[in-house]
Amino acid sequence: MTTVATVRKPAISEGPAETADIVIIGAGFSGMYALHRLHNDYRVVCFEAGDGVGGTWYWNRYPGARVDVESMQYSYGFDDDLQQEWKWPELFSAQPELEAYANHVADRFDLRQYIQFSARVNRLRFDEDTNRWHVHTERGHHVTCKYVVAATGSLDATNIPNWPGLESFKGQTYHTSKWPKERVDVTGKRVGLIGTGSSGVQAAPVLAETADHLYVFQRTPAYSMPSGNRPLEPDYEREWKDNYAARRAVMYQSPSAVFLDWKARPAADYTPEEQNRILEEAWKSRSAFQLLISFSDSLTNRKSNDLIAEFARQKIRQIVKDPSVAELLCPNYPIGTKRPCLDCGYYEMFNRDNVTLVDVRTDPIVGITPTGLRTTSASYDLDIIVFATGFDAMTGSMTRMNVTGVAGIDLRDRWHAGPTTYLGTFIAGFPNLFMVHGPGSPSVLAQMISGGEWQVNWIAGVIDEMEREGFERIDTNLESEERWSAEVNTAADATLYRSTDSWYVGANVAGKPRAFMVYTGGFDKFCRICTEVQRSGYRGLDRTK
Ligand code: NAP
Repeated sequence: MTTVATVRKPAISEGPAETADIVIIGAGFSGMYALHRLHNDYRVVCFEAGDGVGGTWYWNRYPGARVDVESMQYSYGFDDDLQQEWKWPELFSAQPELEAYANHVADRFDLRQYIQFSARVNRLRFDEDTNRWHVHTERGHHVTCKYVVAATGSLDATNIPNWPGLESFKGQTYHTSKWPKERVDVTGKRVGLIGTGSSGVQAAPVLAETADHLYVFQRTPAYSMPSGNRPLEPDYEREWKDNYAARRAVMYQSPSAVFLDWKARPAADYTPEEQNRILEEAWKSRSAFQLLISFSDSLTNRKSNDLIAEFARQKIRQIVKDPSVAELLCPNYPIGTKRPCLDCGYYEMFNRDNVTLVDVRTDPIVGITPTGLRTTSASYDLDIIVFATGFDAMTGSMTRMNVTGVAGIDLRDRWHAGPTTYLGTFIAGFPNLFMVHGPGSPSVLAQMISGGEWQVNWIAGVIDEMEREGFERIDTNLESEERWSAEVNTAADATLYRSTDSWYVGANVAGKPRAFMVYTGGFDKFCRICTEVQRSGYRGLDRTK
């Protein structure tokens, strides 16, 4: 394959397929970077389901949507001019700002010409005779290509539990991740919000401001921290911009792809007074994860974790005036084993007269009615239901594309007992298909933009080498997948993650097989392993000519 004219926006074709070297699926932050990295050397096409760029930050436009990692870090590092010129207005940017940034990047690097919007991929088939993928979209595109880069997002396929009566509801329903672009006015409305993960915790205080009444239906309480969000201080911004190169380098060598200017120690290294001071400072600080990273053993040592969890519970009891509501809001699982949340006034909101917390752990939702919803023992009249019920995480965005590999194997069958991959990137029997942030990669446990950039660079390096050396096909095998699964499981076993039901293990979706889907060994270690695999002549991968 040599450099040839780029395929720009392939035609919708009933007839013979158009050809490309690489199809990228998804124009979120990883997909856009893949496009930028690859389009000069290959004929590249990107298919995006939405009508704009930004992925997660295009779809998740619910009120209150805000990133939980500082924007100076949660941004691209591949181009210094870009990171110098872009001005984040706040410490933690809200969705509109992140979407504006995605649009700016698309324009600045002239990426739109390669992106086909409103084009959801609905079939992906590998042809063994030609070693080419056939990519189809709902709008009728058909492109054949040598490589597919699936930048489809870890949290894209929505999860709405299959409650009876769902269709009968006469009011309006919204899922947080498919929020309409038009403003949803909840003024004077009775709103039911189901789900108290990151999305629900962020949406609730905003909805409560104007709703007549907000019912928060909680099955499992979240650990949430105040974001301390504020306008970005010019000095702080300057300090980052002056030191970006060094700080990005530190991020790439850290377990979570974030920059920290201090090193945590185990909790037991400190006196109780010191522990408390550290936790107080973390509570007032800059990240949902700050409490967790206060001590180096917070996710590996139950005693250290208990210390932090009890500190967080005490904060809830101090903020929420009604003791029975406060107790309901207090989680009892190890902190961090479900994703902690970053909020703007979540616990304070429960002191409002127009907010009611409903415990659906002891009194589960049993159905939706024309006028609201029913739990085992009560009915609630509602005008609007907001589903903040999360995602078919990690696997849903891949399996719903109807992917078939070698010998016609369907990816859903391949993963029927849970997803297995090699390096979170390759699936045996699905050659030349690369996943960014796939199951078995650090994905959501590392800062996603930098993590995606690193992974895309690595994948692009593998493709470059394939082409230089004249290979047609790269695939992994079941033994390599087994070895990687063992590595993923060993890393998880060294932590407390498995002690809690969460979407990390697929527990949030009824009937989904349980498997630990995130590599917890650290982003830095993951990068070292991938680099070593490539240097060692592609251990665990079969390249054929
Ligand atoms: P989530 O964390 O999976 O939360 C879903 C919520 O819905 C949970 O509280 C869950 O309860 C509840 N739920 C699901 N099925 C239910 C049922 N049948 N009955 C009652 N409750 C039910 O989803 P999310 O809040 O959308 O967040 C997903 C992830 O997206 C986050 O963990 C984070 O990684 C990312 N995110 C990040 C940000 C940010 O950066 N600020 C914002 C939003 C999302 P259970 O816990 O009992 O299952």
